[in-house]
Amino acid sequence: MKITFLGTGTSQGIPIIGSTHPVCLSDNPKDKRLRVSVLVEWDDYCYVVDCGPDFRQQMLNAKVSKIDGVVFTHEHADHTMGLDDIRPFFFRQGDIDLYAHKRVFKALEKRFDYIFTTKAKYPGVPSVVKHEIKNKPFTLGNLEVIPIDGLHYKLQVFGFRFKDFAYLTDMKTVPDVELKKLKNLEVLVVNALREEPHISHFNLVEALEFIEKVNPKKAYLTHISHHLGFHDDVQQKLPENVFLAYDSLQITI
Ligand SMILES: [Zn+2]
Ligand SMILES: [Zn+2]
Repeated sequence: MKITFLGTGTSQGIPIIGSTHPVCLSDNPKDKRLRVSVLVEWDDYCYVVDCGPDFRQQMLNAKVSKIDGVVFTHEHADHTMGLDDIRPFFFRQGDIDLYAHKRVFKALEKRFDYIFTTKAKYPGVPSVVKHEIKNKPFTLGNLEVIPIDGLHYKLQVFGFRFKDFAYLTDMKTVPDVELKKLKNLEVLVVNALREEPHISHFNLVEALEFIEKVNPKKAYLTHISHHLGFHDDVQQKLPENVFLAYDSLQITI
Protein backbone atom coordinates (compact mmCIF):
# COMPACT_ATOMS: atom_id res chain seq x y z
CA MET A 1 0.00 0.00 0.00
CA LYS A 2 1.34 3.43 -0.93
CA ILE A 3 0.27 6.61 0.85
CA THR A 4 0.91 10.05 -0.62
CA PHE A 5 0.35 13.13 1.51
CA LEU A 6 -1.28 15.45 -1.02
CA GLY A 7 -1.70 18.25 1.53
CA THR A 8 -0.85 18.63 5.21
CA GLY A 9 -1.99 22.17 6.05
CA THR A 10 -4.88 23.50 8.08
CA SER A 11 -7.87 25.22 6.49
CA GLN A 12 -6.11 28.34 5.17
CA GLY A 13 -3.05 26.40 3.94
CA ILE A 14 0.54 27.62 4.42
CA PRO A 15 1.51 30.25 3.43
CA ILE A 16 -1.66 32.11 4.40
CA ILE A 17 -2.62 34.79 1.87
CA GLY A 18 -0.98 38.08 2.84
CA SER A 19 0.72 36.71 5.96
CA THR A 20 4.17 37.88 7.03
CA HIS A 21 4.53 35.20 9.71
CA PRO A 22 8.06 33.68 9.46
CA VAL A 23 6.67 30.18 8.76
CA CYS A 24 4.55 31.60 5.92
CA LEU A 25 7.69 33.25 4.51
CA SER A 26 9.88 30.13 4.87
CA ASP A 27 11.82 28.93 1.81
CA ASN A 28 11.73 25.32 2.98
CA PRO A 29 9.34 23.36 0.69
CA LYS A 30 8.34 21.33 3.79
CA ASP A 31 6.82 24.54 5.23
CA LYS A 32 4.46 24.92 2.25
CA ARG A 33 1.26 23.06 2.97
CA LEU A 34 -1.82 22.60 0.77
CA ARG A 35 -5.13 21.68 2.39
CA VAL A 36 -5.22 18.16 3.90
CA SER A 37 -5.76 15.13 1.74
CA VAL A 38 -4.10 11.75 1.18
CA LEU A 39 -3.96 9.39 -1.75
CA VAL A 40 -4.19 5.71 -0.81
CA GLU A 41 -3.09 3.18 -3.42
CA TRP A 42 -2.97 -0.62 -3.35
CA ASP A 43 -3.03 -3.26 -6.12
CA ASP A 44 -4.56 -1.26 -9.00
CA TYR A 45 -6.76 0.87 -6.74
CA CYS A 46 -6.39 4.55 -6.04
CA TYR A 47 -8.65 6.45 -3.61
CA VAL A 48 -8.43 10.06 -2.43
CA VAL A 49 -9.45 10.99 1.10
CA ASP A 50 -11.08 14.44 0.93
CA CYS A 51 -11.20 16.79 -2.00
CA GLY A 52 -10.37 20.30 -0.81
CA PRO A 53 -9.75 23.54 -2.71
CA ASP A 54 -6.23 22.38 -3.72
CA PHE A 55 -7.45 19.12 -5.29
CA ARG A 56 -6.54 20.11 -8.87
CA GLN A 57 -2.97 21.09 -7.96
CA GLN A 58 -2.61 17.97 -5.83
CA MET A 59 -3.67 15.66 -8.66
CA LEU A 60 -1.16 17.42 -10.95
CA ASN A 61 1.64 17.28 -8.34
CA ALA A 62 1.10 13.56 -7.72
CA LYS A 63 0.57 12.87 -11.46
CA VAL A 64 -2.69 11.03 -10.81
CA SER A 65 -4.43 9.93 -14.02
CA LYS A 66 -7.15 7.68 -12.57
CA ILE A 67 -9.05 7.58 -9.29
CA ASP A 68 -11.44 4.91 -8.06
CA GLY A 69 -13.29 7.27 -5.77
CA VAL A 70 -13.25 10.05 -3.20
CA VAL A 71 -13.85 9.33 0.48
CA PHE A 72 -14.92 12.23 2.70
CA THR A 73 -14.09 12.71 6.38
CA HIS A 74 -16.59 15.59 6.83
CA GLU A 75 -18.12 18.51 4.97
CA HIS A 76 -15.88 21.46 5.91
CA ALA A 77 -14.79 23.60 2.97
CA ASP A 78 -11.11 22.70 3.28
CA HIS A 79 -12.09 19.04 2.71
CA THR A 80 -14.71 19.40 -0.05
CA MET A 81 -14.40 22.52 -2.21
CA GLY A 82 -12.37 20.89 -4.98
CA LEU A 83 -15.18 18.56 -6.01
CA ASP A 84 -15.76 20.26 -9.36
CA ASP A 85 -12.21 19.32 -10.37
CA ILE A 86 -13.11 15.62 -10.58
CA ARG A 87 -14.18 16.58 -14.15
CA PRO A 88 -11.04 15.30 -15.93
CA PHE A 89 -11.49 11.92 -14.20
CA PHE A 90 -15.21 11.92 -15.07
CA PHE A 91 -14.48 12.67 -18.75
CA ARG A 92 -12.05 9.74 -18.93
CA GLN A 93 -13.70 7.26 -16.60
CA GLY A 94 -17.42 8.07 -16.33
CA ASP A 95 -19.33 8.47 -13.05
CA ILE A 96 -17.09 8.96 -10.02
CA ASP A 97 -17.79 7.07 -6.78
CA LEU A 98 -18.11 9.23 -3.67
CA TYR A 99 -18.19 7.86 -0.12
CA ALA A 100 -19.52 10.01 2.72
CA HIS A 101 -21.85 10.27 5.68
CA LYS A 102 -25.45 11.09 4.73
CA ARG A 103 -25.07 14.54 6.35
CA VAL A 104 -21.98 15.28 4.25
CA PHE A 105 -23.87 14.40 1.06
CA LYS A 106 -26.61 16.85 2.09
CA ALA A 107 -24.02 19.62 2.37
CA LEU A 108 -22.42 18.67 -0.96
CA GLU A 109 -25.83 18.62 -2.66
CA LYS A 110 -26.42 22.22 -1.53
CA ARG A 111 -23.02 23.53 -2.59
CA PHE A 112 -22.72 21.52 -5.79
CA ASP A 113 -26.41 21.29 -6.72
CA TYR A 114 -25.51 21.21 -10.43
CA ILE A 115 -23.51 18.01 -9.93
CA PHE A 116 -26.19 16.19 -7.96
CA THR A 117 -29.25 17.37 -9.92
CA THR A 118 -31.06 14.70 -11.86
CA LYS A 119 -32.82 16.99 -14.32
CA ALA A 120 -31.50 19.09 -17.20
CA LYS A 121 -27.84 18.74 -16.36
CA TYR A 122 -25.57 21.30 -17.97
CA PRO A 123 -23.24 19.65 -20.50
CA GLY A 124 -19.81 18.92 -19.03
CA VAL A 125 -21.01 18.69 -15.45
CA PRO A 126 -19.56 15.62 -13.72
CA SER A 127 -21.73 12.73 -12.56
CA VAL A 128 -21.19 10.92 -9.32
CA VAL A 129 -22.42 7.80 -7.56
CA LYS A 130 -23.23 8.32 -3.90
CA HIS A 131 -22.25 5.67 -1.36
CA GLU A 132 -23.45 6.54 2.14
CA ILE A 133 -21.13 5.51 4.94
CA LYS A 134 -22.30 4.61 8.41
CA ASN A 135 -20.06 3.70 11.28
CA LYS A 136 -19.47 0.17 10.00
CA PRO A 137 -16.99 -1.39 7.57
CA PHE A 138 -17.49 -0.76 3.86
CA THR A 139 -15.74 -1.97 0.74
CA LEU A 140 -13.36 -0.01 -1.45
CA GLY A 141 -12.07 -2.12 -4.35
CA ASN A 142 -11.03 -5.44 -2.79
CA LEU A 143 -10.55 -4.00 0.70
CA GLU A 144 -12.71 -3.66 3.79
CA VAL A 145 -12.27 -0.15 5.16
CA ILE A 146 -13.17 0.56 8.78
CA PRO A 147 -14.55 4.00 9.70
CA ILE A 148 -13.41 5.55 12.99
CA ASP A 149 -16.06 7.81 14.48
CA GLY A 150 -14.92 10.96 16.25
CA LEU A 151 -15.92 14.49 17.11
CA HIS A 152 -14.57 17.77 15.68
CA TYR A 153 -15.96 20.04 18.44
CA LYS A 154 -19.61 18.92 18.06
CA LEU A 155 -19.42 17.77 14.44
CA GLN A 156 -19.21 14.05 13.69
CA VAL A 157 -16.13 13.16 11.60
CA PHE A 158 -14.93 9.88 10.13
CA GLY A 159 -11.37 8.63 10.15
CA PHE A 160 -10.57 5.52 8.11
CA ARG A 161 -8.52 2.36 8.59
CA PHE A 162 -7.16 0.73 5.41
CA LYS A 163 -5.38 -2.53 6.43
CA ASP A 164 -2.66 -1.43 8.88
CA PHE A 165 -2.87 2.25 7.97
CA ALA A 166 -5.29 4.67 9.64
CA TYR A 167 -5.97 8.29 8.70
CA LEU A 168 -7.66 10.57 11.23
CA THR A 169 -7.98 14.29 10.69
CA ASP A 170 -9.99 17.12 12.27
CA MET A 171 -10.43 15.10 15.46
CA LYS A 172 -10.83 16.59 18.91
CA THR A 173 -12.46 13.61 20.64
CA VAL A 174 -12.21 9.93 19.80
CA PRO A 175 -14.38 7.76 22.06
CA ASP A 176 -12.55 4.87 23.77
CA VAL A 177 -14.81 2.34 22.05
CA GLU A 178 -13.36 3.44 18.68
CA LEU A 179 -9.78 2.82 19.87
CA LYS A 180 -10.34 -0.94 19.51
CA LYS A 181 -10.39 -0.40 15.74
CA LEU A 182 -6.89 1.08 15.85
CA LYS A 183 -4.96 -1.86 17.29
CA ASN A 184 -1.73 -3.10 15.68
CA LEU A 185 -1.29 -0.26 13.19
CA GLU A 186 1.86 0.13 11.15
CA VAL A 187 1.08 3.79 10.52
CA LEU A 188 -1.33 6.22 12.15
CA VAL A 189 -1.89 9.69 10.72
CA VAL A 190 -3.53 12.17 13.09
CA ASN A 191 -4.16 15.92 13.16
CA ALA A 192 -2.00 18.21 15.31
CA LEU A 193 -2.89 21.83 14.68
CA ARG A 194 -0.52 23.83 16.91
CA GLU A 195 0.79 23.94 20.50
CA GLU A 196 -2.04 26.11 21.86
CA PRO A 197 -5.31 24.29 22.61
CA HIS A 198 -8.08 24.58 20.00
CA ILE A 199 -11.80 23.99 20.34
CA SER A 200 -12.13 21.51 17.48
CA HIS A 201 -8.65 20.06 16.80
CA PHE A 202 -6.03 18.11 18.73
CA ASN A 203 -3.13 20.33 19.64
CA LEU A 204 0.37 18.81 19.66
CA VAL A 205 0.17 17.46 23.23
CA GLU A 206 -3.26 15.91 22.63
CA ALA A 207 -2.08 14.32 19.38
CA LEU A 208 0.99 12.84 21.10
CA GLU A 209 -1.16 11.51 23.96
CA PHE A 210 -3.52 9.95 21.42
CA ILE A 211 -0.58 8.34 19.60
CA GLU A 212 0.66 6.87 22.89
CA LYS A 213 -2.79 5.39 23.55
CA VAL A 214 -3.11 3.90 20.06
CA ASN A 215 0.54 2.77 20.03
CA PRO A 216 1.14 2.40 16.27
CA LYS A 217 4.63 1.51 14.97
CA LYS A 218 4.89 4.97 13.41
CA ALA A 219 2.74 8.09 13.46
CA TYR A 220 2.57 11.13 11.21
CA LEU A 221 1.04 14.50 12.11
CA THR A 222 -1.08 16.48 9.65
CA HIS A 223 -3.58 19.42 9.38
CA ILE A 224 -0.81 21.71 10.55
CA SER A 225 -1.06 25.44 11.23
CA HIS A 226 1.80 27.88 10.71
CA HIS A 227 1.57 28.44 14.50
CA LEU A 228 3.09 24.98 15.07
CA GLY A 229 6.41 26.34 13.77
CA PHE A 230 9.03 25.47 11.15
CA HIS A 231 8.93 21.85 9.99
CA ASP A 232 12.56 21.13 10.86
CA ASP A 233 12.30 22.64 14.38
CA VAL A 234 9.10 20.78 15.25
CA GLN A 235 10.44 17.46 13.93
CA GLN A 236 13.40 17.65 16.35
CA LYS A 237 11.03 17.88 19.33
CA LEU A 238 9.00 14.79 18.43
CA PRO A 239 9.35 11.27 19.83
CA GLU A 240 11.41 8.79 17.79
CA ASN A 241 8.46 7.14 16.01
CA VAL A 242 6.48 10.35 15.33
CA PHE A 243 7.00 12.46 12.21
CA LEU A 244 5.64 15.73 10.97
CA ALA A 245 4.11 14.96 7.57
CA TYR A 246 4.81 17.30 4.66
CA ASP A 247 3.30 17.72 1.21
CA SER A 248 4.29 15.06 -1.36
CA LEU A 249 5.71 12.73 1.32
CA GLN A 250 5.17 9.11 0.27
CA ILE A 251 5.22 6.11 2.54
CA THR A 252 4.88 2.44 1.69
CA ILE A 253 3.32 0.02 4.12
ZN1 LIG B 1 -9.99 20.68 8.17
ZN1 LIG C 1 -12.97 20.49 9.72
